[in-house]
Amino acid sequence: MRSRLVALTGVTLIVLLAVGVAIAANGDRSNALQKAIDGGRAKNVILLIGDGMGDSEITIARNYAVGAAGHLAMDDFPLTGQMTTYSVLPDGKPDYDPESASTASAWSTGHKTVDGRISTSPSDQDLATILELAKQDGFRTGNVTTAELTDATPAAPMSHVVARGCQGPQDMSACPQDKKSAGGPGSISEQAVQHGVDVLLGGGKARFDQVIPAGEGPYAGQTVIQQAQALGYKLVTDKAGLLAAQPGTKLLGLFTPINMSLDWGGLAATNPPSGPGRCQTGLQSANEPTLADMTSKALGLLDAKISGPGKDQPGFFLQVEGASIDKRDHAAQPCEQIGETVDFDAAVRVALDFAKKNKDTLVIVTADHAHTSQIVEVNATPAGASSILETNEGAQMMVTYGTAAGDPRVVSQQHTGTQLRVAAQGPQAGNVVGLIDQTELFQIMARALGVN
Ligand SMILES: [Zn+2]
Repeated sequence: MRSRLVALTGVTLIVLLAVGVAIAANGDRSNALQKAIDGGRAKNVILLIGDGMGDSEITIARNYAVGAAGHLAMDDFPLTGQMTTYSVLPDGKPDYDPESASTASAWSTGHKTVDGRISTSPSDQDLATILELAKQDGFRTGNVTTAELTDATPAAPMSHVVARGCQGPQDMSACPQDKKSAGGPGSISEQAVQHGVDVLLGGGKARFDQVIPAGEGPYAGQTVIQQAQALGYKLVTDKAGLLAAQPGTKLLGLFTPINMSLDWGGLAATNPPSGPGRCQTGLQSANEPTLADMTSKALGLLDAKISGPGKDQPGFFLQVEGASIDKRDHAAQPCEQIGETVDFDAAVRVALDFAKKNKDTLVIVTADHAHTSQIVEVNATPAGASSILETNEGAQMMVTYGTAAGDPRVVSQQHTGTQLRVAAQGPQAGNVVGLIDQTELFQIMARALGVN
């Protein structure tokens, strides 16, 4: 997605990246890279997470959707690095294959923790998050996902529990010490609204429909939605409601009972391989917003001018998650996985368009951990389940899944432990270059916002 223009002399061809950085005609990017490095402060931070989106998942989606030589929106950032994602075991040794709770806790808090924990240390201490620090310093905050809003990735910046399953007030069996009756903050859904996050958009309505049990705090006997409304939230449950939402009140958008639905389908991976064939598209219900719709609305609300003392565009922290890249990789469904990556990339495009008009915005695009899918030769006979896809450029691509034995409709594929791409632009973005660890994202974002 590059626009080209010929300079007035008619001799020099200048290519403009989406970020507006000029590259010399001979391909020398030195000047452009120097200009992209800004050690200053950001007014806004947008962190976009493709869950389970390793280099394979990006390449598979690029090949299918825009061609091997094409560029996704996420491919046009001026500065990229590599990022390690390991978590820790209870004895402090590294856990080389992490999951979404420990990884989201890492960038949210700057600390490594044990798989399954949400922004709590291995010794049960609550760890302050970037969203909490931003809110404390007067920034607006937002959290957007295609998963349940209480799922691990969105949970980490806005809650603290010892086990990621403790998502609603009726789901607290693994977190006795986090119950309000034990002096804790309650479930993830309760903590989300107690934190007063300005914009909360995603799936997982069933968690917020749960009734808070007797003895569990001042809202016992009510649902979490009723608690949210008592705390000043407006509730929307479909795309029309989302689009009509106006600034001035906190917004809770819950569009599906569990995960939001998928837009692409077809060609489940099998052994021998399914296909060759094309993916189906356009399957998501028109009543449900896309991730790009949610991101666009969240940016509009978080950046809105509201008159009154101290209310004038304070800047914001927004996290956006494309959650089902991971979930459909687990299920060995390449078309669904590609569709979710393309859907995520459309949200990246929305963030880039915002940053074009608001240059004091740090935008980071990365993933939480790597995953299973691999591109192999179309005549290969891999041990796992595979599909042969016919891409938009008319070629064949075999995608295989081989991290769990057995029928992939029954057995879940596993995360993998390889490093990830991290891409960024705006103030502090230069700090993603090289090999960093996921915990360093916390420091980068904290420095950009000037919070600690
Ligand atoms: Zn996963």
